[in-house]
Order: sequence, then structure tokens, then C-alpha cells
Amino acid sequence: MNSLHLYNSLTNKLEKFEPIDPNNVRMYVCGPTVYSSPHIGNARPLVVFDVLFRLLREIYSNVTYVRNLTDVDDKINKRAFERKISIKELTDEVIAEFHKSTNQLNVLPPTHEPRATFHINEMLDIISLLIKNEFAYVAEGHVLFRVKKLSNYGQLSKRTVEDMIPGSRVEVAPYKEDPLDFVLWKPSRENEPSWDSPFGKGRPGWHIECSAMSSKYLGKQFDIHAGGQDLIFPHHENEIAQNFGAFGSLMANYWVHNGLLSVDNQKMSKSLGNIISLDEILQKYDGEIIRYILLSTHYQKTLNWTDQVINQAKSALNRLYGALSSATEIYDDVDLESKVVVALCNNLNTPLALHQLMEITNEIYKEDNQIKKNKLCSFLKKEAKILGLLSRTNWFKRDAKLSEDEIISLLRERTKAKSEKNFQKADEIRNYLLKNKIKIEDTKDGPIWKVASD
Ligand SMILES: [Zn+2]
Repeated sequence: MNSLHLYNSLTNKLEKFEPIDPNNVRMYVCGPTVYSSPHIGNARPLVVFDVLFRLLREIYSNVTYVRNLTDVDDKINKRAFERKISIKELTDEVIAEFHKSTNQLNVLPPTHEPRATFHINEMLDIISLLIKNEFAYVAEGHVLFRVKKLSNYGQLSKRTVEDMIPGSRVEVAPYKEDPLDFVLWKPSRENEPSWDSPFGKGRPGWHIECSAMSSKYLGKQFDIHAGGQDLIFPHHENEIAQNFGAFGSLMANYWVHNGLLSVDNQKMSKSLGNIISLDEILQKYDGEIIRYILLSTHYQKTLNWTDQVINQAKSALNRLYGALSSATEIYDDVDLESKVVVALCNNLNTPLALHQLMEITNEIYKEDNQIKKNKLCSFLKKEAKILGLLSRTNWFKRDAKLSEDEIISLLRERTKAKSEKNFQKADEIRNYLLKNKIKIEDTKDGPIWKVASD
């Protein structure tokens, strides 16, 4: 069996992965806040941890993967108000779009995808436990986490309490015992969603939802907690604090974080106007192209999004699909050892895994024996599946300007012209097809066609 190694942000070390229960490997990833389509930076953890999920399923018989949906947040309230629709209407709409996008990206549905607002009682239970354990206190309708009571607060972000004290210009709410204390529950303003609680009508802070949903579906302590690097502080630090305060245990043993994404070497930001929404990019490019790009840089590094990487991903996929299309049959059973799994077991080395696909592809192009070609193509398809690639059945045909029926009827006409020795007409048809980016290749079994890549 391959042994998986992952870089653990908690210990800052590459560690051998040893699950608490090998018969049920458990992973939690912080999902999106559903107020509008996520940007491509938010798509990175979706794809990276989908590959980790697929890998874990290759190695272990049972994997439980939870990715939540944050559907209570100030941004949601603001957006719903601007659009003059209810919060429920907005979040339902954004969740439906989000699922469409994850499908296009070939991201598998997690085992559970809980919504925060469906777990208010679970959050209130943990808040009560925290108060009982004196890790939280009630003040003016708020419930706050008492950060200084936790001696190892800052263990994930490697910050000291002194580093975290807000500057003198930041106004500290008067009801806080200490500026570092963070909100578990707060009163709702008018027109904001609110729930009854022992502390008055209000709504949860952000961090508590992940403690509530992870402990419900995965238990108080589980194997992997993952997400974007930007979530380390304060979100993940506070999740760790909450679980420790409520249950007295470490939330997760392995903390895995993906690096950020820049566009043309610049940080994506509203002020630069370079934010690329996932929705938009998926209207322009096949989801597998986007997926390929997101896997082409190692997950811990910053991924730089440029037109060049889009073109590289496109031509790489054209080459892979081109090789695959030379198979006359795909076999279910291929007795070759996976090199993709080996690459991924080494801290999710996706660039190496993609390189392995290319190596098989080079062999396919060189191979003359059709049976051996089929075998290699079957292997390629199997290897690519672990990365969630090569799932399309119409890769080349999808860009065609002519419909498949039109192409087939033109090909028939050309064959007929040739048999009548009307070579001028046959050439005209070939040129017409070529103008429409359809390339014909004559084989002993008749002509085959492909969409020419640019
Ligand atoms: Zn979270």
C-alpha cells in the first residue's frame, strides 16, 4: 500500500498520514459563503481537496468528506437587500449555481454538504458547553470566546497573543473582557435573520458553524481539516479554540492549506478590478481546462493565473484527448501500477501526476500495435480519473462549427465523389471541412475526422 504524506500546517512538517480509524477516514473543508459566484481563487481548494478525496478513496475503503455552505453572513444580508429578494431566495440561487460550477469542474459531491442555518441548535449546544467550561461569557446579548483562557491559542497560525492585539486605532467593543475575544453569538439587527437563544434573539458568529457541523458529521476529533491559507487566522485558529474549549480535544490531526492565486502576478482585488469569477470563466472554457490549471501548480505554492497557463492547459488536454481518441477499445482492467497515486501520495504532487499522464501519452503516440495502444489508453484514462480529468466524451467535437450530422453527411458525399473519381469535388469537400476546423484522415476502415486544434 502507498503511504500518504501530507504537509501539516499545525506542526509545519511533512508527516506520514495515519488516520484515527482506517475504516473511516474523515475530512472537513471549509466551503463557500453563498452570496455570489466564487472567484477562481476559491475554486482552488474545491479542486485540490477533491483530488485529496479521490486519493483517499483509492487508498481507504471508506472516506467521509464534509464541505459546508455558509449561508448566514453580513455579505449575504447586504446582497439580498440590494437585490430586493429574500435571504433564502438568494442563498438557494447561489447554491444552485455553485453546484453547477462544481459539476463543470468535475468536483465530486462531498459525503455531506451541511448548511449553517440548518445547524443553529448544534451551534447553541457548543456555545452552552463553552460557557459552562468558562471558555465563553455573555455580555450585552453577545457571547464571546475568552481567548486568554486558552494557553496555546495561536498554535496553528504561530502567532503570539501580543502579535494579535489590534492596533490602538481599532476600537474595541466595550462589552469585551479582552480585545482578542471573538464572537460566538450576537444580537441581530432589524431585517437580519435571527434565531431564539438563551442569550436573546440573534445569530451565530462565523467560526462556530464549522465546529458544530464537523463535530456532528465527523466527531469531536477527526483526521484532516483543510482550506485556503487565508483561513488559518483567525478562522481555523478559532475553530481549534472552540473545539478545545468545548470538548477538550484537538479538532483535527492534519491541517492542510492551499496557497493563494494571483492574476498576472497581482493579488486579485476589487480595487485592481482583476477578480475572475468562476461562473464567468466556466462560460468561456471547459471546466477540465480550469481544473487542469488549478492542478498544474503544487497546492502549497501561489498559483499565477495568466493567458499563457490557459493556453498551456488547453494544448495539454488536446494532446491527452488526442492520444485517447486513438483507442479502438477501452479495457476495464489494466494491470499496471499507478504512478499518479505515487505522485499524489507525496504531499499531493499534482504537477508530477500531470507529468505522468504526459509520459503515458507519449508512449501512446509512439505505439504501433493497436492492442498495446488500447491498453495504454485504458491506463491513461484510469490514471486521469484519479485527478478528475479526461471525463469528457466529446472533447474535440464540442468546438466544431458544424454539427456531427453535417460532417458525417459531407464525409459520405466525399467518399461517393471519390468512388466516382470526381477528385475535384472530393478535394473541395475536404477543404470546406478544413475551413471549418475539421481535419480528415483516411484510414483503411474509412475516413475519420477530428476538430483541428489551433
Ligand atoms: Zn470553517
